[in-house]
Amino acid sequence: MRMLITGGAGFLGSHMCDLMIAEGHQVICMDNFLTGRPENIAHLIGNPQFELIDYDVTNYIHVDGPLDFILHLASPASPVDFEDLGIRILKVGALGTHKTLGLALAKKAKFLLTSTSEVYGDPLVHPQSEDYLGNVDPIGMRGVYDEAKRFAEAMTMAYHRLHGVDVRIVRIFNTYGERMRQDDGRAIPNFVSQALTGRDLTVYGDGSQTRSICHYSDLLAGIYKLMLSDVNTPVNIGNPYEITMLDLAKKIVAMTGSKSNIAFHELPRSHGHDPKVRLPDITRARTLLDWAPKVGPDEGLRRTIEWFKKELEK
Ligand code: UDP
Repeated sequence: MRMLITGGAGFLGSHMCDLMIAEGHQVICMDNFLTGRPENIAHLIGNPQFELIDYDVTNYIHVDGPLDFILHLASPASPVDFEDLGIRILKVGALGTHKTLGLALAKKAKFLLTSTSEVYGDPLVHPQSEDYLGNVDPIGMRGVYDEAKRFAEAMTMAYHRLHGVDVRIVRIFNTYGERMRQDDGRAIPNFVSQALTGRDLTVYGDGSQTRSICHYSDLLAGIYKLMLSDVNTPVNIGNPYEITMLDLAKKIVAMTGSKSNIAFHELPRSHGHDPKVRLPDITRARTLLDWAPKVGPDEGLRRTIEWFKKELEK
């Protein structure tokens, strides 16, 4: 297949480029490098299966030649960006999704939207299955991301219903791994780089809030199965390994052998209404895609820690 990957220079986008190239596909990577990084795709430059277009997908998109699939991954996704990049996040979720769907229609390409567990907001049901409608504050600090993705899902389904575009929607739960930025601001890159440099680990609040953490390789395997399926309804992809942020911090201190302490901090303003719990119900992915995560937290965190160690030595 010949495919366009928006946000292809980001953490997940660049791993997606690698996977699609390994599977024998032609990849056009589009990124404006707002949070994506050239070093994530440097190894692909010159590969005949790879083409890079430096472009902001909130504008009209032109791509020469046929396209079989559009994977719309572009968006800043870390809560630390919700304050400064709020308008950019709303634009890429809304305008960027509209432009990429328009391109899919014009090219008769299939379309995959990377949505998020944030559509469930601060959930009142636990675990979260795809038919839970969510508890989102539209005007809160997280609203810029949550509502952008909710709009993106609505637009994707409208193109499916009205124009017959063959769509997929994946709701991604917390994903981590190699190539996350040290300054990404999310819990795992913060804790790992703090532990490796002997700084205090910054646990926000009392650390009792939970997340369920998935290694990126499992996530991408699930997304690829979704692409090859005929499932048009949203599918949760995540690892149902749920852990409190305090236990996660302790685990990372133990795994790195660090002498760092754990320090409790007030939640930064950018994080808004921090969800207290998050756990994917992956019944749909298991039954419709025959997918389940394979990389446990010990293996996934070990690989991530090794990668951050090498980055810090540079
Ligand atoms: N968190 C934390 N310390 C940090 C970064 C994050 O305690 O240095 C907490 C944050 O308050 C949230 C959880 O870790 O409860 C996960 O936050 P993250 O930014 O990784 O992503 P989110 O799931 O909130 O989008």
